[in-house]
Amino acid sequence: MQLSWERVELTKRHPLTISRGTIAGATSVIVSVEADGIVGRGEMAPSSVTGDTPESGEADLAGWQLQLETRHPLQRQLIEADIAAADGECGGSATRCAVDVALHDWAGQRAGLALWKLWGLDRDCIAPTSLTVGLNPPDVVRQVTTEILARTKARILKVKLGSPAGLDHDRDVFRAAVEAATAFGPITWRVDANGGWTVLSAQIMIPWLAEHGVEMVEQPLAKGDEDGLVALHHFSVLPIFVDESVSTARDIVWLADRVDGVNLKLMKTGGITEAIRLIHTARAHGLNVMIGCMGESSLSIAAGAHLAPLVDAIDLDSHLNLINDPFTGTQFVNGRVLPGDGPGLGITRRSQEHTS
Ligand SMILES: [Mg+2]
Repeated sequence: MQLSWERVELTKRHPLTISRGTIAGATSVIVSVEADGIVGRGEMAPSSVTGDTPESGEADLAGWQLQLETRHPLQRQLIEADIAAADGECGGSATRCAVDVALHDWAGQRAGLALWKLWGLDRDCIAPTSLTVGLNPPDVVRQVTTEILARTKARILKVKLGSPAGLDHDRDVFRAAVEAATAFGPITWRVDANGGWTVLSAQIMIPWLAEHGVEMVEQPLAKGDEDGLVALHHFSVLPIFVDESVSTARDIVWLADRVDGVNLKLMKTGGITEAIRLIHTARAHGLNVMIGCMGESSLSIAAGAHLAPLVDAIDLDSHLNLINDPFTGTQFVNGRVLPGDGPGLGITRRSQEHTS
């Protein structure tokens, strides 16, 4: 097979602020694998969580190219081993994701089937997605919440908290979002602290959020403070999910006694192959599974949407916050992000004039 890649610039409609900083856009690397007249595509979305950057991604791909081009796209097991063997020098999970997703896209196109059909999944059981409200001053939160709900008619919002400015600011942000949403009917509320709380502040905030109708809390404590989750989880009145703390199926084993669920992201697992292992490992440990995203285009969102029938909660919204998404391929129907019927990922490249 032939391996090639190119950069695409993604610009957000609303810059996203979380506890660790603000992102207005990103450079993704789009990977193509070509063989037998079929092109499969995957995406590397950079993130401080995985450590992948456009530069590291391109260096990884260049390092793997010679070996991978001796393979056929159906040899995924061998290709995974090739990349693992090269991992000493390179190998960020988001870059591995781009290759793995491209191989699945290729296989689906070869079979002439959408991936969800190839896997025998039921698209009708996909849950509605949440949309994200970033961590901003309350007046900005009011504006953004109103704009998101007016544009998308979403029924689930995930509010980013864990502000460095403290718990009073978190409460003000959450109240502002709820106030702005009042005009739009009932909303299901989720909160993601992105590791911005201590055990003590989480013990104060979680009961407060429960009283205000929140259904779950994501990543209350920083990655690395998983010992703190033991005490927090034992007394928590809300389900606790982790995101930054979990990457692959291996992490499920040691986190299972201290969380209720995990937020799976393809950029962290290194693609669809490990994502499926993670889902089944989490199920075997009695955990709920959410599928989320980094700052991705519709290409990676489509890959997540094909897996969505296998998980409980959906947070596939990054493409809905882009003003220049280079791809189409998912449908947004009654608050649900649905994979298409086309073969493989079912994605299409937009023509350049439609991306500005
Ligand atoms: Mg998160």
